[in-house]
Amino acid sequence: MTVSHTPFTATVLGLPRVGPNRELKRAIEAYWAGRADAGHLHTVGRALRRAQLLELRAAGLDSVPVGTFSYYDQVLDTAVLLGALPRRVAGIADPLDRYFAAARGTDTVAPLEMTKWFDTNYHYLVPEIDAETVFSLHPDKLLAELAEAIELGVAARPVVVGPLTFLKLAKAADGAALDRLPELVALYRDLLTRLADAGAQWVQFDEPVLVTDLTETEIALVRETYTELSSGERRPAILVATYFGHPDGALGALADTAIEGVAVDFTAGTQVGDLAVLPALATKLVVGGVVDGRNIWRTDLDAALGTLGTLLGSAGSVAVSSSSSLLHVPYSLDPETELDERLRSWLAFGAEKVAEVRLLATALTTGTDAVAAELAAARAAAESRRTDPRLHDERVRTRLAALDERDLNRLPADERRALQRDHLDLPVLPTTTIGSYPQTSAIRLARAALRKGEIDEAEYVRRMQAEIADVIALQEKLGLDVLVHGEPERNDMVQYFAELLDGFAATDNGWVQSYGTRCVRPPILFGDVSRPEPMTLSWIGYAQSLTTKPVKGMLTGPVTILAWSFVRDDQPLGDSARQVALAIRDETVDLEAQGTRVIQVDEPALRELLPLRAADQPAYLRWSVDSFRLATAGVADTTQVHTHLCYSEFGEVISAIAGLDADVTSIEAARSHMEVLDDLNAAGFALGVGPGVYDIHSPRVPSVEEITISLSAALKAVPAERLWVNPDCGLKTRGPVEVEASLRNLVTAAAALR
Ligand code: GLN
Ligand code: ZN
Repeated sequence: MTVSHTPFTATVLGLPRVGPNRELKRAIEAYWAGRADAGHLHTVGRALRRAQLLELRAAGLDSVPVGTFSYYDQVLDTAVLLGALPRRVAGIADPLDRYFAAARGTDTVAPLEMTKWFDTNYHYLVPEIDAETVFSLHPDKLLAELAEAIELGVAARPVVVGPLTFLKLAKAADGAALDRLPELVALYRDLLTRLADAGAQWVQFDEPVLVTDLTETEIALVRETYTELSSGERRPAILVATYFGHPDGALGALADTAIEGVAVDFTAGTQVGDLAVLPALATKLVVGGVVDGRNIWRTDLDAALGTLGTLLGSAGSVAVSSSSSLLHVPYSLDPETELDERLRSWLAFGAEKVAEVRLLATALTTGTDAVAAELAAARAAAESRRTDPRLHDERVRTRLAALDERDLNRLPADERRALQRDHLDLPVLPTTTIGSYPQTSAIRLARAALRKGEIDEAEYVRRMQAEIADVIALQEKLGLDVLVHGEPERNDMVQYFAELLDGFAATDNGWVQSYGTRCVRPPILFGDVSRPEPMTLSWIGYAQSLTTKPVKGMLTGPVTILAWSFVRDDQPLGDSARQVALAIRDETVDLEAQGTRVIQVDEPALRELLPLRAADQPAYLRWSVDSFRLATAGVADTTQVHTHLCYSEFGEVISAIAGLDADVTSIEAARSHMEVLDDLNAAGFALGVGPGVYDIHSPRVPSVEEITISLSAALKAVPAERLWVNPDCGLKTRGPVEVEASLRNLVTAAAALR
């Protein structure tokens, strides 16, 4: 039996939580640093939730998600809810400290692993499940947040990560995590009763895993799970939320159960006409995700109304919603006073999206007359966007149209290797680093001083050059072979380039949570991209003037620039990638003309943009590889192209790595003990490779012996003439003392092996 409930009409699937001005980030970090106590943190959290609830109530949402607030991550919160924290943190008595220990580790306890949430740039903590895991229900946080909302008179809808998504994302030490589903379902049934008793009319189970490829067996589990959950004695109405793609077969399975509602993402390629199961939803509430929850463009309201209207003809009832949680977009456009008015009129951040949802719901229930003025304004903005000359740069398009296959190809790799050997004159097992050196407080202070106008551009350049000179001197002293300038001038490897390229805009306050308290401010790629002037030449040129050893030119690749930006939605991603690639290509050609002999183009996000469904992956891999080749194939065959990838589990992208055709690829390997080389060999990879010989994610200094063991293992898999010696990522988060000691050991180990 469900408790009495009515269908709602306007909602969003989840909310940002760091605070409009990152108040929560500061409070959590103060707690970690011992500058504030738990009471202070809870006070800040409560105030943020209260303000947000009041705002959403005022905005007219008739169902408001609660429980999406978090001190770190919603998947970790679900692990706590289900009593599924790993044994190693169980001894920590204080619940808050136990929670943060699971999230970040302590001196003695390793944290949970962190990985990307589907194809977004948000990272969740991976639950660990093993024979010792005994699930038990701990709904205190959720019930407390529900009570807060009810007290404010808000129509609150508790949100919980669903059992299938939780288990599919978990790492099981033995057997399949899904084997534990029956235990979880029993717990979720208890939870439903508790929520009903606490006054919830609706509950939302987040099941984004339903938009990934599922087996027939898994689809059957979807049906069984929600049949079981919806047969509970006393429970709220159940909404199962799918997002980030097409729920496909899973939607049919859900339709067969007695749940009351499903949410479908109509911003990720799904057309309402594609939904063959629509007739089966005739008794259910369909929550139409027509307002994009993860990009920042104003909604095409007419198209959205078309979708909603079609739904209305089939579904039991229809609600308007964001396609996903608003976690992935900034709070509000209000602080963005520096954006030009035209661009600003094309955008919708969190608050503006809530207003769009409300407006669409009004149009749907009372007709478009009631919102005619708003519809007209949205149409005018869309028209101004469509006709803005910055979105259609004839020079860029003509250049791209003139390119062909030859512009993506260089000589065969082994011929290039011979040419580069003569050109560069490097020893076997050459040593290098990934690019960045410690971002010291001097660097951060100089950047802040420049921003505040306390120092001028010339003084800033002088200070950065001093940093570069230090880094070059250090590398000379240590005896590294291919040097880097250390990237002191880069606040961020994407933002730096976005600020220098045409077609991008930056926000002042557009913060989005990346993980824990780490927030990023993604640039907005709104127009055709080109490079008005060189971006790195003076820094690299200065560094090269200090040494006779080759200094690497350091650039960020097109896929990574797209992955960490809000991208335009009026053309295929591959088209935008080609434009960015062309701008990077211009930079490589100029670097080479200036005397740079080695150029690295980083693509740490290559895997992260991989489409969720296998059927969509080949096309993605084709355009992403091509855009990298376009970016890098403009230089002479004597110039050595490097790339860097930040992970070691390649999976589906492994063939693409060879396809990049970079002369040298540095990858993470220290934590996975060189197994990656076997994987690469198995995929036929025969280019230069620098498997990271030590893990930069920890401050520990690796010994010479340790590095020697890693390198010896690598030499079993890769011939010496293809092997490079380097750490597994950039050094910007490390301290100068440990960096010097680690690199000294690295150079010693390489020299001994030679
Ligand atoms: N060149 C960059 C650095 O060293 C690469 C960072 C990354 O892979 N994320 O910082
Ligand atoms: Zn890296």
